[in-house]
Amino acid sequence: MKHYSHIETSFIHGGISTDEYTGAVNVPIYQTSTYAQKNIGTDVKWEYSRTGNPTRAALESLIAELEGGDAGFAFGSGMAALTAVISLFKSGDKILISSNVYGGTYRVLDKIFSNFGITYQITDTTDLKAFEEAITPEVKAVIIETPANPLLTITDLQAIAQIAHRHSLKAIADNTFMTPYLQRPLEHGFDIVVHSATKYIGGHSDVVAGLVVTKEPEDSQKIAFIQNATGGVAGPFDSFLMIRGIKTLAVRMDRHAQNAQDIAEYLQLHNGVKTVYYPGLAGFKGHEIHKKQAKNGGAMISFELTEEYDIKKFFPSLKLITLAESLGGVESLVCHPASMTHASIPRELRLKLGITDNLIRLSVGIENASDLISDLKQAIDSSRI
Ligand SMILES: *Cc1c(COP(=O)(O)O)cnc(C)c1O
Repeated sequence: MKHYSHIETSFIHGGISTDEYTGAVNVPIYQTSTYAQKNIGTDVKWEYSRTGNPTRAALESLIAELEGGDAGFAFGSGMAALTAVISLFKSGDKILISSNVYGGTYRVLDKIFSNFGITYQITDTTDLKAFEEAITPEVKAVIIETPANPLLTITDLQAIAQIAHRHSLKAIADNTFMTPYLQRPLEHGFDIVVHSATKYIGGHSDVVAGLVVTKEPEDSQKIAFIQNATGGVAGPFDSFLMIRGIKTLAVRMDRHAQNAQDIAEYLQLHNGVKTVYYPGLAGFKGHEIHKKQAKNGGAMISFELTEEYDIKKFFPSLKLITLAESLGGVESLVCHPASMTHASIPRELRLKLGITDNLIRLSVGIENASDLISDLKQAIDSSRI
């Protein structure tokens, strides 16, 4: 029985949070591949670490509780987690994905699953009518992200889940940008949640990992089978790092989001900034939907410099914020979607999507907000043509 009712407490005490064998207040790193058995043919709880490992099991029970699901599963990366989920489907099935899903999700469908007869179609999930019209008998699932990279596009979770279920589709959400602290898609009717735990859940840019949470026991059994059969599991040490990251998730996300709100409001007032994309801004497209389904605006901001500024001067001028791929760590990172995360999209299409050459994506860390604002200010000012 749980003796608490708030998610902040779950981060510390949720799931299996102490060691049943020794009482250690932190679940130890069970760095073992196998387990001694008493005799042949006896029922054993632990037999081989691909199938099950106590450190990973503790993390899996914790993420299941945090997302409000039936079961959790830990993988070696976000892509391994997504691959396991897509493996629920079979040849002839089609999956709808929103127009701005993570590039790796698009790539694994386009280049890998297409070889096995699983097809996909890109749809605009912000347009509910277009989404429903895209559903044909072979469509079996929808994969969405909200907010979605890099323009922080908002999809209505509840509306998509309702339409999906009306047509017997599995509704799958990649909740990486929000974490279960800010948004819990299963509560809005989704069936499966996926995370790149490399980002906010790990939170310190020191682990690559992924998580899956299922709502229906039937899906839990299938994912457990796929996880063991295909083997993309998270190791004990990485599982420990995720548990450790989750303990501070609430305080980190509060600070991340407060910093992001301050920075977005600052950027909005800067003459050199044409557009600011941040779900926490009142005028932002989708702000009302986002507010309904998430606790705050999160900590990802994109912004576009006006033509009077040279993007090539901006990045090297930053002194504190690091130019790097990835996001969600305690340190602020910045990237250039047009040449980095979205470089594989042809320029014409990229421009049509709004990913201009002057667009900058910022993963706001938990440093002091004024220090971050000063760094952005001097870098923008020194990139004026
Ligand atoms: C990073 C990311 C992934 C992929 O996760 P990896 O851990 O890098 O494999 C998937 N979805 C989103 C939204 C991401 O940001």
